[in-house]
Amino acid sequence: MQTLNAIRVAQQLLLSKVACATCIVDATAGNGKDTLFLAQNSPENGIIYAFDVQKNAIATSKKRLMEHNADNKVQFILDSHANVKSYIDREIDVAMFNLGYLPGECHTTMTMPESTIQAVTDITNQLSHGGIISVVTYPGHDNGQKENRAVRDYVITLAAEEFTVLCLDMINHGNNPPILYVIEKISRK
Ligand code: SAM
Repeated sequence: MQTLNAIRVAQQLLLSKVACATCIVDATAGNGKDTLFLAQNSPENGIIYAFDVQKNAIATSKKRLMEHNADNKVQFILDSHANVKSYIDREIDVAMFNLGYLPGECHTTMTMPESTIQAVTDITNQLSHGGIISVVTYPGHDNGQKENRAVRDYVITLAAEEFTVLCLDMINHGNNPPILYVIEKISRK
């Protein structure tokens, strides 16, 4: 069993931050697995804003959260994460992006480089001191490769006095495996 996959590592790295986070974003709710992780591991007064552009993704996520009695602190938002600023006007402590398309669904709806970069940029600008963002990219397909490049090109420019950026790449795996980026805000600027 592969325990070191990008999603699992992202969750492990975020866990201690989630435990004291009050403003949390799941930028790609999908089937709600990450939303559930965030809801189950955040404090009582935490609010999770879960975005997705697909109605069925929001419905599946809601159902998953309700089945686990964990929906009370989640606001589901049927809109693009590119509009995050319209919904959240305070500092964000934790955000997760799991890019690409909904597993098991038709692949016509997927995250796109422009909107992804818009959202990652806006959330980075709203990050609290010590706040953290994870982004998992899927360079195994064309759009995913462009998106991965766009994410990499953006995060690499973040000032080292303000942010630490980590990149986790499974370098011995073929077929362009998922890549995890983690951005942590390390200054009070
Ligand atoms: N985190 C999810 C989970 O735990 O099940 C998996 C997410 S799935 C890989 C990617 C999701 O991103 C899809 O459900 C898709 O509809 C959504 N998506 C695509 N473009 C989006 C956008 N601009 N804003 C928000 N969600 C988007």
